[in-house]
Amino acid sequence: MKCPNCGDRTAVDLDMHSNGFTSEESPVKECGSCGLVWRLIKDGKNDRIDIIKQAEKK
Ligand SMILES: [Zn+2]
Repeated sequence: MKCPNCGDRTAVDLDMHSNGFTSEESPVKECGSCGLVWRLIKDGKNDRIDIIKQAEKK
């Protein structure tokens, strides 16, 4: 999926099990371009984006 910050499409899945996230329900993504870490929360009607780590400033 597209990065909500920069729109890049090189996001990769992260394994966040050790942090208590359930990656199957809310896959955690990291943008390969800006470093933003987020997950998509599906609540039925409207998907919600939860920013876990802000983009890195370069
Ligand atoms: Zn990005």
